[in-house]
Amino acid sequence: MANIIDGKDYSEKLRNKIKKVVNILKNEFKIVPGLAVILVGDDPASKIYVKNKGKQTTDVGMKSYEYRLKKDISEKELLDKIIELNDDPNVHGILCQLPLPDQINSDKVINTIKPEKDVDGFHISNVGLISTGQDALVPCTPLGCIMLLKDIYDNLSGKNAVVIGRSNIVGKPMANLLLKENCTVTITHSKTKNIEKICKNADIIVAAVGIPEFVKKEWVNDKATIIDVGINRIKSEEGKYKIVGDVDFLEIKDHVQSITPVPGGVGPMTIACLLSNTVSACCKINNIDIKKLPDVKSF
Ligand code: NAD
Repeated sequence: MANIIDGKDYSEKLRNKIKKVVNILKNEFKIVPGLAVILVGDDPASKIYVKNKGKQTTDVGMKSYEYRLKKDISEKELLDKIIELNDDPNVHGILCQLPLPDQINSDKVINTIKPEKDVDGFHISNVGLISTGQDALVPCTPLGCIMLLKDIYDNLSGKNAVVIGRSNIVGKPMANLLLKENCTVTITHSKTKNIEKICKNADIIVAAVGIPEFVKKEWVNDKATIIDVGINRIKSEEGKYKIVGDVDFLEIKDHVQSITPVPGGVGPMTIACLLSNTVSACCKINNIDIKKLPDVKSF
């Protein structure tokens, strides 16, 4: 049986570390990190995400600012809100929940957020910094994955890593982060041929496909670590809904070295990384060297 990577436990430890830093910022610097989340429209799934983000933000002692805007809001009104938050000294992180309604250009919205407050790491400046191996605000889900991998391996250098999926929010930044750790990285996608064969040689597989239980037992080797980013809602044989990943967990778990479960693997890491990004942004904006704070070398 593989080592089951406990993202719930890791994310709890990360949140405790964040709490400590937030306390230091409050007590020694009189600063309270603030995260602003904008939700346009009333998509039920997005509402739940935003509610969870708000709760976890206040749980670690940070300030949460939530803006619920009407579905038919104009692009200009939304951009004006972002500009207002860019200039607000109490706000250190800004996130606009995606997807956005059709009348709004998402790229324009993302690129209007000040790069130093772009805690989702989607702004073109942060994307450029990440792809050139420089320090940046990194998208939360790939950041969570790399934290879990670094917890398993002392050194990722020379590892053969395969990323399945090339999205801007997961696949591409994930590949860049693995490259920065000196992995040999292969990105596979919907047009890749012989994906099974490519995966078979991998020390690390990160699956971000959006297809339930896509990665099969025959694709993996027994030394591999599998990071499953997928969140898919499927109907079970009993007619009930359940969440599964992009990896056939039950089939694979006895044939690899380590694997993240779904739920309880990458998922809990994503919001924790949003919080750590907000604290990092707050420190940088206020010229505080986070590495010099007691007990905190880095997140
Ligand atoms: P996406 O739809 O933007 O991208 C999917 C990628 O998979 C594409 O690049 C596509 O080329 C690739 N793909 C599609 N079919 C393929 C095939 N047959 N073979 C190989 N590659 C194929 O999705 P995304 O936003 O990157 O999300 C991927 C999954 O991760 C989804 O299940 C999503 O729900 C989940 N997700 C989870 C979190 C989290 O917090 N855990 C965050 C973001 C996304």
